[in-house]
Amino acid sequence: MNTPVDDYFRSHLPNQQDDGKRRWIYPKAPSGWFTRWRTVVAVMLLTALFAGPFVWVDGHPLFLFNVLERRFIFFGVTFWPQDFYLVAVGLLTFIVFIVLFTVVFGRVFCGWACPQTIFLEMVFRKVEEWIEGDYRARQRLDAAPWTTEKVVKKTAKHIIYFLISFIIANTFLAYIIGRDEWLPLVIDNPLNHLGGLMAILAFTAVFYAVFAYVREIVCTTICPYGRLQGVMLDKNSLIVAYDYIRGEPRGKIKKNEPVPPKGDCIDCKLCVHVCPTGIDIRNGTQMECVNCTACIDVCDEVMVKIDRPKGLIRMDSQTGIETRKPFRISSRIMAYSIVLLALVGVLAYLLVSRPALDATVLRAPGQLFQREAGGRISNLYSLEVINKTYGNLPVQIRVNQPGATLRFVQPLTDVKPGEQAKTMFFISMPERSVQQNSTPLTIDVVSKGKTISQLKTSFLGPVN
Ligand code: SF4
Ligand code: SF4
Repeated sequence: MNTPVDDYFRSHLPNQQDDGKRRWIYPKAPSGWFTRWRTVVAVMLLTALFAGPFVWVDGHPLFLFNVLERRFIFFGVTFWPQDFYLVAVGLLTFIVFIVLFTVVFGRVFCGWACPQTIFLEMVFRKVEEWIEGDYRARQRLDAAPWTTEKVVKKTAKHIIYFLISFIIANTFLAYIIGRDEWLPLVIDNPLNHLGGLMAILAFTAVFYAVFAYVREIVCTTICPYGRLQGVMLDKNSLIVAYDYIRGEPRGKIKKNEPVPPKGDCIDCKLCVHVCPTGIDIRNGTQMECVNCTACIDVCDEVMVKIDRPKGLIRMDSQTGIETRKPFRISSRIMAYSIVLLALVGVLAYLLVSRPALDATVLRAPGQLFQREAGGRISNLYSLEVINKTYGNLPVQIRVNQPGATLRFVQPLTDVKPGEQAKTMFFISMPERSVQQNSTPLTIDVVSKGKTISQLKTSFLGPVN
């Protein structure tokens, strides 16, 4: 196991001073192979995120998460509250996927795909660097007295932060209420949409606070996924790891001393300077590491300069570092994969077999039965139909009981796409055919000549 230089890191957060106050992190901008690919991934994900609410297919949004109206569209497929079981199975699958992914690849999601990291490192930090300079210049500026230059730089930075937060908040709201509901909030008189405007400002304030002040604390302290690393990672998980066998004993290069003087680590501390959570990866795997891979890039540059092989810090498992053996699939990974495959299978089946139409029939509350002319008994029912498709659906119902007839209070017409239709109807039967207090009935819901669902209910009547 790695022998840390001292144990200070065990009792102190990387962003905490001795007196308990926050230590502001000033990460150096990384560059290199991993950073280039991270940038490509970030640009793709940001493009997808900002385009998401505005991409419509066949006149319908690709994504909508309307919690207010309980309507969700995911990749063009509409989900209703009645589809909650699908959401539950989908969430379970997603959680198992995350656990499996973490067991195998560690916290790569955090460093490469999490919106918090992407926005902070690829957007807000870039703005900061552009206005205030590199990490040393930013440190100097913060320590300097409030001169005109400092006021101008800080004001400009925070105005841009606020504007970016405003754009994120608008996108976020467009995902919730949809493009067509969101657009009037922007182009119409704001006084006509005070509620929407307040929502945008509230979201803006949250995003601004997170990216301007809270920053890495989200990853190191708030995010539950980060806190769970300890139970998900094992010795075979792929993580950003320092090869302490190669690197130790660390030591600075002295003039006229052969390279490497001791181990390969020349204790330049550049891996610490680039770390956005302020940790020293040479102390071993730590919960604060978001696997951003910045330290790999910077250390590789150092290795090239001192003519040593790259990969003193690399993606590897703890076992890989200790035994020098390549990464292999463990029995734990196999077990998780089997569970994940089974869940994906169940989810796919539920999605494919999801009916295009959801119907519920209920007997009218508080009513027993009515006697009608001609010796017939009738019961009143309510019918609710949800059309989950994007086209009009003609709906008819049929009752499977000899002698039973249907009479609608309101006629049942076509159900519009994505809408819910309600109607009331009577079922009547000859009194002499009613043999029990409660007769089980099956009602067929038919659309375009096809039985979409069969609903079970009961018919109440006096026993002859
Ligand atoms: S960047 Fe590499 S060489 Fe420099 S301190 Fe970190 S591990 Fe050692
Ligand atoms: S230790 Fe390396 S990979 Fe982990 S957060 Fe810091 S820079 Fe990123």
